[in-house]
Amino acid sequence: MSSSSQSSSIYANSYFETELPKTKLPEQSLDPKTAYRLIHDELATQGNPMLNMASFVTTVMDEECDRLITENLGVNYIDTEVYRANSNIQARCVDILNDLCNAPDINKSWGTECVGSSEAVMLAMLAHKRAWQEKRKAEGKPFDNPNIVMGNDVHLVWNKGAIYFEIEQRLIPLCPNKYTITAEEVVSRVDENTICVVGVLGTSYTFQYDPIEEINNALVDLKNKSGLDVPLHVDGASGVFIAPFLNPEIQWDFRLEQVKTINVSGHKYGLVYPGIGWALWRDERDIPKSLITETNVLGFLEKSFSLNFSRGGAMILAQYYNFIRLGRDGYKQIQNTMRENARYLASGISQLERFDLINDGTYTPSCCMCLRDESKFNASDLVHVLAEKGWIIPAFSMPANAQSVNAIRMNVKETFSRDMADILISDIKMSLDKLDSIYSSPYHKVGTHHH
Ligand SMILES: *Cc1c(COP(=O)(O)O)cnc(C)c1O
Repeated sequence: MSSSSQSSSIYANSYFETELPKTKLPEQSLDPKTAYRLIHDELATQGNPMLNMASFVTTVMDEECDRLITENLGVNYIDTEVYRANSNIQARCVDILNDLCNAPDINKSWGTECVGSSEAVMLAMLAHKRAWQEKRKAEGKPFDNPNIVMGNDVHLVWNKGAIYFEIEQRLIPLCPNKYTITAEEVVSRVDENTICVVGVLGTSYTFQYDPIEEINNALVDLKNKSGLDVPLHVDGASGVFIAPFLNPEIQWDFRLEQVKTINVSGHKYGLVYPGIGWALWRDERDIPKSLITETNVLGFLEKSFSLNFSRGGAMILAQYYNFIRLGRDGYKQIQNTMRENARYLASGISQLERFDLINDGTYTPSCCMCLRDESKFNASDLVHVLAEKGWIIPAFSMPANAQSVNAIRMNVKETFSRDMADILISDIKMSLDKLDSIYSSPYHKVGTHHH
């Protein structure tokens, strides 16, 4: 029977008993139902996003927002003249975010949608480097040896950027029990070739906050004493959507004099699906004009400062949807629920008396810990056993000089309910019991040891 026959089951299609085309475009077409089913079913073999405690990225949005996204999948963000409303909504999002970051004058601030924080970081790095170069050139000084100062626990994108744009990275090491940088460590590495300093609001390893206000104050001091005016960039990939709601007492944003640029991922605690981030400038004039490019190829004059040209516009709508749907109250309630569930998880884990907590959810919706006793099995053995239950939880050694510490981190997202916390705590206990029994058994060498 032919596979396209009305009466045959999709599962009778020959692709279900032979291999799917993997290296060559197939000669013949396939009906859409079968194509869908083949790919849909294959995806069932991968991790469940709901149980992914490793990632910060959003997995669920309102159905109304899903509809908005589906309706606008064909909208190209760069076509600002054609998709004028989409483009206006982008500009509103930028203003709302600059306002959330307390930009002193919303008419002077600027920002742009990006694929994620990674693109935003690249743009900020480029702008700081070019601004530094132009200033040095004007002063008749060498401009071939730029550096950037940050902790060595920064997100990979900072290492990429430093390599791609040829900027020396001056990395501040961590040490056990201290997983954020200090203002003194920053200032001791700054010199006339420093294009900017980076502080992280929600570090990738432990989800803690670098002391942005202290770093700012030290840079202001330096400026007053030596005339060296070094800008501060805040990597708020996750923190920009946490701190204003959960930690309003902390100053980390454009209220601080040296903070000139901020990046944030809409797809993390902005609660939008993957594919959106934002780069923000307190003052548009901080972007060197030489970086703004123009084209008339779409039939109108398009000015841009971005790495990519075409991209989907739907996630911009999704971001704006959340802004008007949730408002400050909605964001605050969701972030607060996440943090309470993180605290609950941390407290349940601490009652097992097997872990030292690094982040107990006090500030951010995350729980990070290390095993007290790794003489028999280690953090990575534990997460392997948890993976048998479907939990996706990362174990990793901390960067130098804290590399002796193996941490386990669980980010709590909005889909992680109190019940799921109870299930996870009980699964951690069962996994520990299992490992205890394997490693106390004389036969443990045939067990599941992964060292
Ligand atoms: C996630 C993250 C990034 C990278 O952001 P993407 O949105 O994934 O591109 C950069 N810095 C920090 C601190 C992050 O948490």
